Amino acid sequence: MRREDEITRCSICGREPVADDFPRRVCPRCDAMALNDAASPARADTNDGTGDNPVFIDSKQCWRYYEFGGWVTMLDKDNCRDFHEFCKCNGLA
Ligand SMILES: [Zn+2]
Repeated sequence: MRREDEITRCSICGREPVADDFPRRVCPRCDAMALNDAASPARADTNDGTGDNPVFIDSKQCWRYYEFGGWVTMLDKDNCRDFHEFCKCNGLA
């Protein structure tokens, strides 16, 4: 059983608990503030699992893993050039 202080928290706000199935996940509240590279609110199409990448939250670069019906947003601490590199840096296949 996990202790309270082992709960994984949002990589942006450090408050909201998040699942630890992906590295440095961002909570939905922070994700809602995401901007694309044109500084407009990040767009996503949940029907076909596509959308803006990377996105910027609080001026920090994040990548979204899009899938049918939604996405997972993760903080990029390495400033990767593209999602492929981000996946390599983080052991995501
Ligand atoms: Zn957060």
